[in-house]
Amino acid sequence: MRCDYHLHSSISTDSSTSPVKQIKQAEALGLDEICFTEHLEIHYYRGKDWHVNLQDYKERFARLTSSRVNIKFGIEAGISLAAEHFPELEEELRSVQFDFVLASAHSINNIDPFDPAFYEGKTIAQVFRDYISSILTGIKQLNADLYSSVGHIDFPAKGAHSEKDPRLFFHYAPDEIDALFKYIIPLGKCIEVNTATYRTLGKLEVPGEDWLRRYVQLGGEFVTFGSDAHSPEYITYHFDEAMALARRAGVKYYATFDRMVPVFHKL
Ligand SMILES: [Zn+2]
Ligand SMILES: [Zn+2]
Repeated sequence: MRCDYHLHSSISTDSSTSPVKQIKQAEALGLDEICFTEHLEIHYYRGKDWHVNLQDYKERFARLTSSRVNIKFGIEAGISLAAEHFPELEEELRSVQFDFVLASAHSINNIDPFDPAFYEGKTIAQVFRDYISSILTGIKQLNADLYSSVGHIDFPAKGAHSEKDPRLFFHYAPDEIDALFKYIIPLGKCIEVNTATYRTLGKLEVPGEDWLRRYVQLGGEFVTFGSDAHSPEYITYHFDEAMALARRAGVKYYATFDRMVPVFHKL
């Protein structure tokens, strides 16, 4: 089962690739399944364009076809939200039947990692501590029936920092990572292994084995793999390395989703 569970198309404001082009690339790669995860950012400080219209998305999605690749209907739901906006997010997530919902934090106090201010006056370890804490704050406010996986816990690695080594290591944020894993694992939720950060590594080895091992120690059994591709060349970017790394860390399964129900595949 070869799949990619995190990709965007021009239905999201930050991609100029048509969904058809993404599907063609998935077919060319011989994938079995892909899941579109367009941006749903409610009350986002970067503007209304980040808030995909779900009815419009659903209609456009319904017209997509492939004889070779299974195409799943997903969303990347932003959880960097003021507490009073979570009911609105939940209402939107209930308004259509998704296959998969990836819950992701993209900013802290309306500053995102693509702004150097996100890193100002902090060590990279502190940046990760703050970011992972913000994921936990957000995810605790979202009904667990309404999401499937937690996106890119190492998101700040790919932002506008000046670090030579921006990788997330477990020892940077042990308490914050533990708290997040201890919250989501008993709920039957999982984390994403996101390979977009691999694009920035140069010669550094791919990160994540340490925090994935901790995930397994705390009872985590499955993950999702996502490239976060906004253009065709990044679909399943370095997935072989990511899967080998997860296997080494002891992760047993990766999941695909059908109408929010996980399907497990041996890793
Ligand atoms: Zn994201
Ligand atoms: Zn994304």
